[in-house]
Amino acid sequence: MNYKISHRAASLSSSLTLVIDAKAKQMKAEGQDVVGFGAGEPDFDTPQHIKDACIKALNEGFTKYTPASGIPELRQAIADKFKRENGLSYKPSQIIVSCGGKHSCYNVIIATCEAGDEVIIPAPYWLSYPEMVKLAGATPVILQTTDKTEFKVTPAQLRAAITPRTRLFVLNSPSNPTGSLYSREEIKALGDICVEKGVLIMSDEIYEKLVYDGAEHVSVAGFSQAHYDHTIIVHGFAKAYSMTGWRLGYMAAPEPIAKAVDAIQSHSTSNPTSFAQKGAVAALNGPQDHLKTWLAEYTKRRSFAYQRLNAIPGISCVNAKGAFYLFPNISKLGLNSTDFCAKLLEQEKVAAVPGIAFGADDYIRISYATSMANIEKGIARIENFAKSLAK
Ligand SMILES: *Cc1c(COP(=O)(O)O)cnc(C)c1O
Repeated sequence: MNYKISHRAASLSSSLTLVIDAKAKQMKAEGQDVVGFGAGEPDFDTPQHIKDACIKALNEGFTKYTPASGIPELRQAIADKFKRENGLSYKPSQIIVSCGGKHSCYNVIIATCEAGDEVIIPAPYWLSYPEMVKLAGATPVILQTTDKTEFKVTPAQLRAAITPRTRLFVLNSPSNPTGSLYSREEIKALGDICVEKGVLIMSDEIYEKLVYDGAEHVSVAGFSQAHYDHTIIVHGFAKAYSMTGWRLGYMAAPEPIAKAVDAIQSHSTSNPTSFAQKGAVAALNGPQDHLKTWLAEYTKRRSFAYQRLNAIPGISCVNAKGAFYLFPNISKLGLNSTDFCAKLLEQEKVAAVPGIAFGADDYIRISYATSMANIEKGIARIENFAKSLAK
């Protein structure tokens, strides 16, 4: 039998973060003392009132199909959230609930991009963006940044990359994998260029709530009607409510794009899980005090990890302003990021993700969404490892 794989699928590789995570979990299952810095998810539990709303919905028999784009109650709660927190007016018909923020990104790209189109993606990037663009048949155009600019693209860089074929600019602030955050002025400058050139912005705002030291998250959609008209916001419940396994995300877009995504979704996944949507309503409309506790904890871990990593000879690290990752530069230690992470796991039993997965081979990604004890132990091991390389 010739199992011919389509060009579309054959060009993809499996997510390296998931591969590393699987290897670390396997080592753990074999009884090895592995410290995991690979996870891209909060280590906190979903708040109880959200679970309760979901359980109640299940018990009440809320287990059937819902409208493909989500229940009206949830789309309204999302519209209310945008109004209340971001000053943005969306009608529920402009909001589509999907099976995770990742699914929302995919839908947006499939709905707006095709062969011949270019999508501008700043690197280091969330590793799924370029693969999604390729799945749509379009071409990713990568804008390289380094720790010298805190991993932020400049307006000049963006302007120079735009061609008549540019369809979409992907903005992710706060960023996975670097934790960097664009300021209000920086976001506006990038947004202005997209408006001027007629380029759509896919703004992935999933880490909106995870910002530190009093910094502010700013949505590019808020600067003017023109910015709003050029922006598609992608968002979700995974990070701020620790609901990664629930598979719920959403997007907010100009009406024609929302309509296209509604059609795509109605023929592919249909609705996101019915009772999970009831939990999401409780997440948005219920108390938000868990965030204060989580942010305090993340802040403590980030400060500790940042200082400890920078104290290791050969490693340098810019501080994160958001999300829950640090992205230290390991290039002085003489290994590429893949070999570095493979040997680190083998010798010191610490799982981190090689920067190459995010388009930046001089770095590794450390997630501090894990206990302080793990962070202390894991970074001490990284220090040992760095010393062994320096010899
Ligand atoms: C986690 C994450 C998402 C969405 O994750 P889901 O689990 O699919 O909701 C989207 N973008 C970035 C950058 C992320 O890190």
